[in-house]
Amino acid sequence: MARVALVTGGSRGIGAAISKALQAQGCVVAATYAGNDEAAAKFTAETGIKTYKWNVGDYDESAAGIAKVEADLGPIDIVVANAGITRDAMFHRMTPQQWKEVIDTNLTGVFNTVHPVWNGMRDRKFGRVVVISSINGQKGQAGQVNYAATKAGDLGIVKSLAQEGARFGITANAVCPGYIATEMVMAIDESVREKIIKGIPAGRLGEPEEIARCVAFLAADDAGFINGSTIAANGAQFFV
Ligand code: NDP
Repeated sequence: MARVALVTGGSRGIGAAISKALQAQGCVVAATYAGNDEAAAKFTAETGIKTYKWNVGDYDESAAGIAKVEADLGPIDIVVANAGITRDAMFHRMTPQQWKEVIDTNLTGVFNTVHPVWNGMRDRKFGRVVVISSINGQKGQAGQVNYAATKAGDLGIVKSLAQEGARFGITANAVCPGYIATEMVMAIDESVREKIIKGIPAGRLGEPEEIARCVAFLAADDAGFINGSTIAANGAQFFV
């Protein structure tokens, strides 16, 4: 039987590449998004992948959305918590609103995405949880106290979930992308982006497909002993 995969933020950017990679691996995929109906409709037309709209920051919306996906496609075997946002500002200028929006989406959003599928995975003795963290969760980043806090928190989530899920056949792992050529990164001021690229030994931004490759690997049936791990895909952008 084909595995059912849920990818949050799965209709654009890195998430779209993940949705397509899982589909190519034989999964039936549901991709979620927040509000960009046009991108979602285009994605469904191109790939045949069903899209669903809800705010990952809201538990009730997430639980209802996940129930709808499961009614349509069957129990979810693979969940990829990918939806994320930035609200960058130096700490002395960061507003409580900027802090809250990022925490709600990137950190609480992971809870809201995984929690409603967790008991089903335990009952069925199989699950693959992959959370998209970030290099900036590993090393910190000036101007991203909020974002780095959530992405570091994601690593704590997967390490803990791995320990709870292992005896139920559930794995939980994180992927930490470096700088990837999506709208999120292309929105950075060009001069800043050029500087960032100079700091990447690979001499270029990563491609969404290069992150999707990591996720497809972790989501495979025969990846069951890879649990609580972090895969860094960042063009050798080492940090201390
Ligand atoms: P994009 O901005 O290109 O896409 C974000 C996706 O998340 C969209 O589908 C968007 O929906 C969805 N989304 C945003 N907020 C919500 C929400 N509240 N509820 C539901 N869906 C939401 O992002 P990227 O592809 O660049 O990033 C994907 C993930 O990878 C993020 O977690 C990001 O932090 C992480 N990452 C990205 C890096 C990069 O260089 N790009 C580097 C390291 C990590 P909609 O289309 O409706 O707006």
